[in-house]
Amino acid sequence: PTARPPAPAATQPRPLAKPAVFVPVNRTPEMQEERLKLPILSEEQTIMEAVAEHPVVIVCGETGSGKTTQVPQFLYEAGYSSDQSIIGVTEPRRVAAMAMSQRVAKEMNLSQRVVSYQIRYEGNVTEDTRVKFMTDGVLLKEIQKDFLLKQYRVLIVDEAHERSVYTDILIGLLSRIVTLRAKRRLPLKLLIMSATLRVEDFTQNSRLFSQPPPVIKVEARQFPVTVHFNKRTPLEDYAGECFRKTCKIHRMLPAGGILVFLTGQAEVHALCRRLRKAFPARRCRPQEEEKDSAEEVRRFKKSRARAKKAQAAALPQISLDSYSVLPAGEGDEDREAEMDDEEAALGSDLDLDLGDEDGAEGGEQPDASLPLHVLPLYSLLAPEKQAQVFRPPPEGARLCVVATNVAETSLTIPGIKYVVDCGKVKKRYYDRVTGVSSFRVTWVSQASADQRAGRAGRTEPGHCYRLYSSAVFADFEQFPPPEITRRPVEDLILQMKALNIEKVINFPFPTPPSVEALIAAEELLIALGALQAPPKGARMKQLQSSRLSCPITALGRTMAAFPVAPRYAKMLALSRQYGCLPYAIALVSAMTVRELFEELDRPAASDDELVALKSRRARVAQIKRAWAGQGASLKLGDLMVLLGAVGACEYAGCSPEFCQANGLRYKAMLETRRLRGQLTTVVNAVCPEVGLFVDPKMEPPTESQVTYLRQILAAGLGDHLARRVQSEELLDEKWRNAYKTPLLDDPVFIHPSSVLFRELPEFVVYQEIVETTKMYMKGVSTVEIQWIPALLPAYCQFSTPLEDPPPTYCPETGRVQCHRTSVFYRVGWALPAIQV
Ligand code: ADP
Ligand code: MG
Repeated sequence: PTARPPAPAATQPRPLAKPAVFVPVNRTPEMQEERLKLPILSEEQTIMEAVAEHPVVIVCGETGSGKTTQVPQFLYEAGYSSDQSIIGVTEPRRVAAMAMSQRVAKEMNLSQRVVSYQIRYEGNVTEDTRVKFMTDGVLLKEIQKDFLLKQYRVLIVDEAHERSVYTDILIGLLSRIVTLRAKRRLPLKLLIMSATLRVEDFTQNSRLFSQPPPVIKVEARQFPVTVHFNKRTPLEDYAGECFRKTCKIHRMLPAGGILVFLTGQAEVHALCRRLRKAFPARRCRPQEEEKDSAEEVRRFKKSRARAKKAQAAALPQISLDSYSVLPAGEGDEDREAEMDDEEAALGSDLDLDLGDEDGAEGGEQPDASLPLHVLPLYSLLAPEKQAQVFRPPPEGARLCVVATNVAETSLTIPGIKYVVDCGKVKKRYYDRVTGVSSFRVTWVSQASADQRAGRAGRTEPGHCYRLYSSAVFADFEQFPPPEITRRPVEDLILQMKALNIEKVINFPFPTPPSVEALIAAEELLIALGALQAPPKGARMKQLQSSRLSCPITALGRTMAAFPVAPRYAKMLALSRQYGCLPYAIALVSAMTVRELFEELDRPAASDDELVALKSRRARVAQIKRAWAGQGASLKLGDLMVLLGAVGACEYAGCSPEFCQANGLRYKAMLETRRLRGQLTTVVNAVCPEVGLFVDPKMEPPTESQVTYLRQILAAGLGDHLARRVQSEELLDEKWRNAYKTPLLDDPVFIHPSSVLFRELPEFVVYQEIVETTKMYMKGVSTVEIQWIPALLPAYCQFSTPLEDPPPTYCPETGRVQCHRTSVFYRVGWALPAIQV
């Protein structure tokens, strides 16, 4: 078909609900019948009229009303993808992009060549693609290549209520692109879809859209859901409580699927395992997760054997000792983590008043007479496995899906009648001081809790069991604040600058980040060399007028291509030069994953545990010292330990036994390995001439490579520089062995778990600061004073060149004083300066 979609409404009389160019879709009768049940079908005409008349339209409708699966089909049928153009749909989650493209292809009876998806490094888009599901990050990258996005006729931004940072930025950018495209007579239609009615940030924002876009509400058929709160104050062991509640529901309540909300993949798998043990299916069900890791180990062993063979032929064999792997320790046995405090939570639960005939909580006794079809669901689950939740359970078995937050709004699982809500969510949390992020489990918002409850009433009246009291619920925040207001924004600013958006302050954010956050981000990026520093003197004025508008540098563009924090991206960009790239990739991966070692700082519950903890700590310290080595390599400090851990672990096939024996977290090591692979792919895409293949078996770096790596770290972590307070500067005792940083007024210390704890080097950079009894630096590496002027000029004070003294540290200003002419000579002589 070559017909065009309707021209913009301004020049036309009121267009027909169904444009003349109807593209027929050959659905199966069953599928058509299923579709007709969806509430959004009755709004098709309203939606299509609004799209024809307005450049921007907002569609609101309960989760499950059919927005994601149906609206792209409406547009396709109305001819919006004729003429070689594409209907684009963005999703904040990869799971949704994949699952929805499959579903829509199936509903339309089209192949995945036509209805396709693209996520970060994976997709099935072809030249025949007419409907393209993608993550919002993918579209953002496409905007960098073609700002007008000419291949799209329509863009749908889905799940806008989630207010993910990328969604917010996309909406801001698209508001501009829509205007530009209209001027060029290449109109682009924008649809924003939300599961809540809270869309004022989009409609009441004149900077975003000069005309408030129309909002179309889809009335969903929602059955009543009875909400049951726990009577008691919530328990720490919410996963155990989920188990008990699910067992009770399964034993006592009539047919209907159960959906359990937990916070993370590990918890999901643990609960699945427990439930499968308690209610074994009649058929033997493979324990998927165990099969997966076994499979992974097998695959790796195979490839290692192959690599070994090849290496034996070509190179002298490197022995395991190169990483000083210690022999396995004497039986630190794996303590069973699950506490058996079944009784603790019982009785609390009067809402689910089902009697207690058989001690209903337990279920540890396998009960094969009550088959339960237990399925996990989380964002990184393989797509085939995700698809299982949409299939009906085996005859006679009850469906039970154990899910993370993905099931809250992105995916609607059919046949759910009971929801078990732990009330928690795993959220990225950003430290204001260090800017370093971590995941924390926190309470959800009231809006999220209600969304979760709503999952129970899709097909019939349902029940939601909240594992917390109504008093606690009343204290939840009403809505989660948009992500952009909760986190540092340097990575976003870098991405936006890469799009040549210089005056970030003028950008139409749906909710803008604070000016302080913008300034902090811009200053960090300037210090990292990703943005051009404004001329001296202009700075203050610039800040006063809050017009942040430094342009991006060539280094900044390279950095923007790496999917890691700008500090780490800088390290990758620099390390290309001295054969350090594989090491830098390993380091950046390990630093991004964080906490490769088991947590041993926890307080002990008993004397026995204290003894065990102490011996474990001593052993891990010994392993770390061995990995850190002596002399040059020790100067790389804790980062050398990370390299050692990654290298040694790969030599040992990344086995759970090896991790256990050496105090490493197996999950973290697997994650690090995945990230190493991913970063290698990006490096190869960014600079194909490197042709990098990261050999999992990495030889230890040479002495000079260690020195380069230290400089690379200093360059990346420059704002995390600290200097030891010298004895003559001691103000009082609390400063003994302390360090001073440009960011904090208080003394900071090297963490006792660091291999540099006793070394006390003069200058260090650190990965993060954690606050316990004191402020502690973790991930510490040493820096030479001579490097600071060349690598971190922002922290230096340059004077007129008279003679040629070495740089000195000035305690009053906290800066390194140096003489400009001598600096480069010195650095160039002592060590080659790293050039960007
Ligand atoms: P919304 O985007 O409004 O939340 P969706 O379009 O995702 O709604 O879902 C509409 C309906 O399609 C839901 O009832 C859901 O159960 C069903 N559905 C979605 N994906 C699948 C699938 N892969 N298999 C079966 N049904 C599905
Ligand atoms: Mg949806």
